[in-house]
Amino acid sequence: MIEEAALSTNDGDTSLQDGSLAKILDFFGVSWCRLAVSALLADNDTRSLPGVRLLCSSDVFSELIANVQQNPSRLQQWRQRVHSVFVYAGDDTGAFARAVKLLGRNGTFNDGESYTGRILIAKDFSEFCGVMAGVSIDGDAVNIGSNFVPTDRNSSNEIMSTKDGTVFWKIEYENVPVFMCGAKSIVDMDCELADGIFDVRNHLVQAVPIVLYIRWAFANTSWVAPEHNACLIIDDPLLKPTYGFVEFRELLFLMRRYKFSTNIAFIPWNWRRSAPQVAQLFRENPDYFSVSVHGCAHTRGEFGDDSSERLYGKTKQALKQMEWHESATGISHDHVMVFPQGVFSEMAMTVLKRTRLIAAVNNDTISSDSIPPSITIADVWDIAIMSYYNFPLFTRRYPWQGIENFAFDSLLGKPVLIVIHHDFCRGHCAQLVDFVEKLNGLARPLSWRSLGEAVRRSCRQQVLSADLVQVEMYASELRLENRLERPRQFLVKKRECDPESIKEVRVRNQQLLWERAGAGIQFALEIGGRESVVIQIRYHRLSDEEAITESLTCRARTMIRRYLCELRDNYLHKLSPSSDGKSR
Ligand SMILES: [Zn+2]
Repeated sequence: MIEEAALSTNDGDTSLQDGSLAKILDFFGVSWCRLAVSALLADNDTRSLPGVRLLCSSDVFSELIANVQQNPSRLQQWRQRVHSVFVYAGDDTGAFARAVKLLGRNGTFNDGESYTGRILIAKDFSEFCGVMAGVSIDGDAVNIGSNFVPTDRNSSNEIMSTKDGTVFWKIEYENVPVFMCGAKSIVDMDCELADGIFDVRNHLVQAVPIVLYIRWAFANTSWVAPEHNACLIIDDPLLKPTYGFVEFRELLFLMRRYKFSTNIAFIPWNWRRSAPQVAQLFRENPDYFSVSVHGCAHTRGEFGDDSSERLYGKTKQALKQMEWHESATGISHDHVMVFPQGVFSEMAMTVLKRTRLIAAVNNDTISSDSIPPSITIADVWDIAIMSYYNFPLFTRRYPWQGIENFAFDSLLGKPVLIVIHHDFCRGHCAQLVDFVEKLNGLARPLSWRSLGEAVRRSCRQQVLSADLVQVEMYASELRLENRLERPRQFLVKKRECDPESIKEVRVRNQQLLWERAGAGIQFALEIGGRESVVIQIRYHRLSDEEAITESLTCRARTMIRRYLCELRDNYLHKLSPSSDGKSR
């Protein structure tokens, strides 16, 4: 399958925006070449293959179309060679207007730099829009670029529309679909995010149309996630019949009825305090309830430390307590760390990687170190952030960040992870159910799983040939499925800055041979038709001497803090009227 991209430019001229397009194509693993308009569709053009996908700014596009219209042989080549075109407005609004006119559309343009109002992604383009189909976004001073107001408005062409016009639409020109995007610029993947969080509402027209186009035009050859998983995470509760506004029996009833799953970010320090009847609910309903590791004692910034010895001591303590909890209650836990208060250091990630934990999950992506690594858009668009010693940090979001952000995460192939606290379950979970129904109403259904399984199944794949799939894994464990009837070869890669720390790679209880490759490691395996395997990368553990156990004074302080928090969740919060689900 050939799905070649061509970045069309004015002769030899490369703009900043073309650079941004190139970075996005690279991110999705799309092969591309740069072609000048004069070379493109020329009689002696041997570089562009049939089925070429063109991406260009409107000034380049209007020159190309003028050229095509003046020359019948080029028109023929246009029809035969071009699969589709993605055009963005760029700085030259005049050129965008010219291009639109050349395509036979009439209308005016509004500059929508601070547009406030609803922006709707069409339901009717579900094949093109995927999970984003039908999503509406309440824009607040959003930069929407050029908003085209056609004289004869035909909403069947509109992919992203405002109340009076469209910012992304499709036109068929001489049998070739042309996607017109009003964006003046394209999102820059290298852009550093000051708060480490990508909010799609701030980059709506700069990001959504180009990603939708790439997902559609390169569906068979770009990196894609094989699954779209989801899990709700509630931080902190004790496993008692009622904790704050959480009633576990009621929650189970709602999960069954509204089809979702819940992971409890469980504080290991509480291991002795789970109620037998709640433990039973968890044991009997593993498809609905799961438990992850939420720090150790949940003291302030306990994983923001920079001492590997102290961090290892705390991690060991936490994992031991989770084991004791499992022995006492029969509830197995996911080997996933959720950082208390979202605080973590780079050293914490380094230490966690050398334990049996397979990943971390967090809202915040920037470490508490005095000089944390910068987090770019490319980092957060990735399935998991790999900037911390290549131990994966999966991102999660609060419901108030909007359904559009969860849908966009899913479009990128990230698992949809929602975080709330007990107070979001106020009023018998009315607002929670409302939110879950919106998520389950997205155009592409989500698979609700335990947090561990959502993480374990997160990867991206690229089909290299009919029998060979390239896979990038993130967590230290990967569940890999061959969905075909016949056996298939998988070439699995993982970014790894410290291959020396790898003890072994295992699958089906056997060691796999692996080798260093580029900035990581790789190995190959064959998986039978309709078979699924779990691949485990095991690291050399840190030595026990590196752990320092907590002093008695620390233990006393921990106990006081835990009881005060519970007092707050169970009594004080129940008296206060509002809930925003935010972290504490
Ligand atoms: Zn917490």
